[in-house]
Amino acid sequence: MEKLTVSVRDHRYDVYVGSKTYELFATEYAELLKSTDKIGIIADAHVAEVHLPLLQDALASTGREVSVHIVPGGESCKMPEVYVACQSFLLQEGFTRNSLLIAFGGGACGDLTGFVAATFMRGIRFIQCPTTVLAHDSAVGGKTAINMPEGKNMVGSFHQPTAVLFDTDVFKTLPASEMRSGMAELVKHAFISDATWTEELLEEKQFSAPSIKWLEPQLLRGIGVKAQIVGEDEFEHSTRKYLNFGHTFGHAVEAASGFGSLSHGECVMIGMGYAFLLSEKHGHLPADFTGRYLRFAKRNGYTFKPVFNYSFEELLSYMQKDKKASFGKMNFVLLKQLGQPFVKEISTGECQQAFEEFKEKLEREEIV
Ligand code: NAD
Ligand code: ZN
Repeated sequence: MEKLTVSVRDHRYDVYVGSKTYELFATEYAELLKSTDKIGIIADAHVAEVHLPLLQDALASTGREVSVHIVPGGESCKMPEVYVACQSFLLQEGFTRNSLLIAFGGGACGDLTGFVAATFMRGIRFIQCPTTVLAHDSAVGGKTAINMPEGKNMVGSFHQPTAVLFDTDVFKTLPASEMRSGMAELVKHAFISDATWTEELLEEKQFSAPSIKWLEPQLLRGIGVKAQIVGEDEFEHSTRKYLNFGHTFGHAVEAASGFGSLSHGECVMIGMGYAFLLSEKHGHLPADFTGRYLRFAKRNGYTFKPVFNYSFEELLSYMQKDKKASFGKMNFVLLKQLGQPFVKEISTGECQQAFEEFKEKLEREEIV
């Protein structure tokens, strides 16, 4: 088991990654549990079905009673009705300002539970027990949110967890597309921070189906990148924007496809291809880096087909609605070189030209 400490303003918390991390409830976090009057788990339904006993047994060994509230699996748990139901559950169970919540699921359950914790009685403590590879990104950094009929993540707050216990034993049941999703965010962390690490990942044979032994230090490295950036810029005024590399175009594809046919990270993989094409024009990447990236993605089972399913105008409307767009201008995170991100405003005309070039390139290289 490995540990990394995150420091955000006056708030410090540890992130543990490895096997049997829930055993820490009885040791490292015994005092914390003692200081709470009630403990509640908010669990993703799919995850609970297979893994809840793992977490419950670990908590039972501390002698504490724990309430469990199951929410719909995946993204649908971020609906406002589910949020309200969580608050009612806590009130009916007699939770107070001294209670503790535990999020047990992927990024969606983590975002929901974080927002419930941020707003219940104006804020209570919560621990993240993430169960997806993608959650190495979402469980750290304190962004919490739910979705509205008008858009994803539209209501939320910043609320840092008290601890993050990443138990890698639960990855064995993760579907392949969710593994690809998380690995896309991992390679994104490499792209924006470290050229040597990027090279390692691009050549890695087990990238899309990694062994846990290989994955654990990689996740820790990804969390390290996120933690450093969040430590510098918690509220996304400057460098935190770099974490959105690939997300402007990726989100547009995700939204146009109605969220669901492809996982978030698979859409980000598409978005990073587009961002590399723009980066080749505005930065100093190695020659035809985009081509190399696209071949890497194809080799690892990612698809770029959705790029051909939508018109530029359709994707543009989503890019302009992106929370990160400001005054209707589209700001893209690009790379000067591998590991060196910067933000650049790109005109609609240039976006369209890049979109056409992107499709031509995908066709020419037979990457679809
Ligand atoms: P997810 O939470 O929707 O989980 C994906 C699917 O995998 C779900 O069906 C879930 O039930 C299932 N699942 C989870 N763990 C499993 C396991 N161990 N075995 C089998 N099935 C499992 O998806 P995600 O990719 O983890 O998270 C995506 C969410 O994270 C989005 O809502 C996104 O907005 C959010 N996010 C937040 C941040 C942040 O900084 N707060 C950053 C990135 C993403
Ligand atoms: Zn993302």
